[in-house]
Amino acid sequence: MDFAQLGLGEELLKAIEEIGYTTPTPIQEKAIPIVLMARDLIGLAQTGTGKTASFTLPMIEMLSSGRARSRMPRSLVLAPTRELAAQVAENFDKYGKYHKLTKALLVGGESMGDQIKILEKGADVLIATPGRLLDLFDRGQILLSDIKILVIDEADRMLDMGFIPDIEKIITFIPMTRQTLLFSATMQPEIKNLADKFLSNPKSVSVAPPASPAATVDHRMMEVSPKDKKYVLRDLIQRENIKNAFVFCNRKKDVDMLGKWLAEKGFSAAALHGDMVQSKRTETLQAFKDGKISLMVCSDVAARGLDVSGVSHVFNYDVPFNADDYVHRIGRTGRAGQSGKAWTLITEDDDKLVAAIVKLVGGNIVTEKTIKSEKAEVAAKPEKAEKPERAPRREKPARAERHDRDDRSEKASEPKLVTVKRSSKPEPSGRRYPILPDDEGDKFHEDNMPAFLRK
Ligand code: AMP
Repeated sequence: MDFAQLGLGEELLKAIEEIGYTTPTPIQEKAIPIVLMARDLIGLAQTGTGKTASFTLPMIEMLSSGRARSRMPRSLVLAPTRELAAQVAENFDKYGKYHKLTKALLVGGESMGDQIKILEKGADVLIATPGRLLDLFDRGQILLSDIKILVIDEADRMLDMGFIPDIEKIITFIPMTRQTLLFSATMQPEIKNLADKFLSNPKSVSVAPPASPAATVDHRMMEVSPKDKKYVLRDLIQRENIKNAFVFCNRKKDVDMLGKWLAEKGFSAAALHGDMVQSKRTETLQAFKDGKISLMVCSDVAARGLDVSGVSHVFNYDVPFNADDYVHRIGRTGRAGQSGKAWTLITEDDDKLVAAIVKLVGGNIVTEKTIKSEKAEVAAKPEKAEKPERAPRREKPARAERHDRDDRSEKASEPKLVTVKRSSKPEPSGRRYPILPDDEGDKFHEDNMPAFLRK
């Protein structure tokens, strides 16, 4: 099947051809004709399947006749995060280049005044995160009574983030005679309820995840002691042939700490998390997309669903609390049939979380053990017990050498393979890692760093 058979107009076909898409993805093939028929739709599809185009393309087609009035947008796309909303907006620009549709992107962290000005001119498409939309609505800056098409994107993430009540509220401001499209990677009972309540006789389509994560991503785990984590990560980054990588932490303070630390060590790294001001978030993400930053240290919220092409690696500095988040994280690499590698640093405390991931991914994750922890044990004993011949006298070591303990992970380049223990129950959150060792005496040499990772 090709795009011309889906019922899209000439302008869209031209834009699609210029972008270089030759065939519709399965979700596009299934969803576009249904949306064009003005039917409600439930799309069970993950990011990476081409789902954004499956609603933006037919929406552009349907909105191409008619114009929006001031402060009365004609369609609304709700997205869970600012970055995802921005990504949807980019899709409208990309596919709608031969149409004269206007759009407004309403996300938190950016000037309300600018957003109001755009709304005043009239927007055919409104793309918003729920919080900012409600803010503007409550201030009387926007009317939703002309909305003909409503899209709820990434409903499962909306649920995770506690946005379902906001969405329910927003829907009450939208006319009943509308077309509603709901996309979700999973169909939890709460999402099913939402669909039952607000969609009218919907058609359901579902597609398999873009490719089984195991197929395109090489999953690896490295056993580490908590205090060695950042050093092991640094060594892994050096050891791997990295083009660019996401580095995920569970906590924002670790995102900040690690981003800063890697940058101090000379890596081209930056941090991205939800507490940063939006202008900085946008700027950082753009720099990563443009290849000006190689390592994006981030939290789940900031990176969820981000579509950056050709990401070679994902590092999980922390094991995610949720096995599903593991799949989302590693989904940043191995996209569009390319291969990718995902490394996860695991500590003793992570056994149950790891087991849940192994189960979800379908087993066969190679786990390596850093030499460091082994060396520490083995090396300590013989020296005490056997009292070997006296070692040749040495000069007092240089300052950096005296702090060798913090650097042992630098010698961790020949790992040993071990198998992962399996256990069935995921573990609740709330673990805390000991404080990481001080950097003083850290013998990392910038000279060892691959050129492409340098600032
Ligand atoms: P999404 O699932 O919407 O995040 O899309 C994932 C990626 O697939 C994006 O980079 C799109 O540009 C790309 N994409 C969407 N549709 C197609 C298509 N028909 N052919 C090739 N790539 C596509």
